[in-house]
Amino acid sequence: MSSDLVIVYHRQPYEEVEENGRIVLKENTSPNGIVPTLKSFFGAVDHGAWVAWKLAEDPSNPDFEQVIEIDDAYGKYSVSRLPLSPHQVREFYHVTSKEAFWPILHNFKERYNYDPVDWPNFREVNWTFAEAAAAEAAEGALVWVHDYNLWLVPGYLRKLRPDLRIAFFHHTPFPSADAFNVLPWRKEIIESLLACDDVGFHIPRYAANFASVARSLFDVESVGRERVPDKWISEGTALIERMMPSELRYDGRSISVSVAPVGVDVDYITENAQSDEAVEKAAAIREELGETQLILSVGRTDYTKGGIEQLESFERVLEANPNLIGKVRLMHVSVSANRNMTAYEDIQGDLEQAAGRINGRFGTLDWQPIALISRAIPFVDLVSYYRAADVAWITPLADGMNLVCKEFIAARVDGDGVLVLSEFAGAAVELESAVLTNPFSNRSMDSAILTALNMPRDERLTRMSSLREVVQSNPVQNWKPGRLKTATSKTVASAA
Ligand code: UDP
Repeated sequence: MSSDLVIVYHRQPYEEVEENGRIVLKENTSPNGIVPTLKSFFGAVDHGAWVAWKLAEDPSNPDFEQVIEIDDAYGKYSVSRLPLSPHQVREFYHVTSKEAFWPILHNFKERYNYDPVDWPNFREVNWTFAEAAAAEAAEGALVWVHDYNLWLVPGYLRKLRPDLRIAFFHHTPFPSADAFNVLPWRKEIIESLLACDDVGFHIPRYAANFASVARSLFDVESVGRERVPDKWISEGTALIERMMPSELRYDGRSISVSVAPVGVDVDYITENAQSDEAVEKAAAIREELGETQLILSVGRTDYTKGGIEQLESFERVLEANPNLIGKVRLMHVSVSANRNMTAYEDIQGDLEQAAGRINGRFGTLDWQPIALISRAIPFVDLVSYYRAADVAWITPLADGMNLVCKEFIAARVDGDGVLVLSEFAGAAVELESAVLTNPFSNRSMDSAILTALNMPRDERLTRMSSLREVVQSNPVQNWKPGRLKTATSKTVASAA
């Protein structure tokens, strides 16, 4: 099949749901996930392709069709489903990606686990992805690879198909050489990324880190540097950068480095936030709360999200401010994405223990300071909580972008509400009007949440108005990472 645009992302572009004993393919339930955003690029080409993995008990004889054709609202595209055995998935995804890469990407060297990594398996899985992408791509097509699970794909692909345009986007942070070079496979990974035409990141800091890691390992020349636009300079925050790399040269080739912070679907969120259902639900939540202020915290159960640090801050704040007893509640939504991994089970246990302790210390029969919620809240319901909350408290220790904070802002069609945001979330470089906080400092964490709870209405409205302007000016539909344009099949991948 000849596709003008091939997207290589490890997950399939839909959810497989069982209905009446049959598996049917449904749109992903979260409209803000990356999948619908990526699929929307198929609208600009004659035919697209998506490469993902699918679990197979016997990969040499999978019980499903490997390539299927889809024609839906997003366009015409095929999906190549690479059959991976449970062993391959565990080694490639749970061990190598989550136990070795994930902690390094987020600067948690002490959590890095090198010993169990089966590197030949990682190479093999990445090779399979590269082969499938090569089989789908038309002459000169654009192949767009996503995230660290597939770091070796560009290098393999360049060897298989030198004619292709290859772009790579990182949805996570990219660390400095001090952290990245802990990976023993650092040279192999960076050499593969340097086989791209474009390597993309959410914010200038990650792009700058990538360039310096590449220079530390290879004879890479920085030939292009640009001023960071004012809209991404949030003074005084930890992730601030003033210059960013735009082009590297290596081995006679030019590699563009691009920065594109992803946004949210503002129209969809606005529509949901204004729906009768959301308005009624938010009003009911408020009525039940009465004078009590609601703090909302939403994230995955992951050490990078700083859940424990946040609960501990809440405990200190209640201890130091007895006037808040009975006057404030924290709804802490922490959803596990990797249930079968011990690291995440431990965090879940720690969160339950901390929330139980705090509720035990301060709670009464009719008031519990913390509602800990461990199951995923459907997005349409989440919007009602966004509307009802007084404060969104989003304090990851490291986060590539963080969409929850942008969703909260988009949902505040009433123009009220306070966002307390970690200065280590990528989104902080755009959201200067949030109450920015340093999650590594107890004093900063505690004072930020107190500031938010006590903020006068005028200041809340002013800050929210500028936050809404930022989020509205960068909706997900405008997200065009890479200096590679996907237009019609004839102009695919022409350099911008
Ligand atoms: N989310 C949800 N229900 C929940 C918790 C989270 O729908 O109970 C969604 C949330 O709306 C957001 C996404 O999960 O779109 C989380 O994205 P984010 O970038 O904040 O964090 P990630 O998990 O990708 O690191």
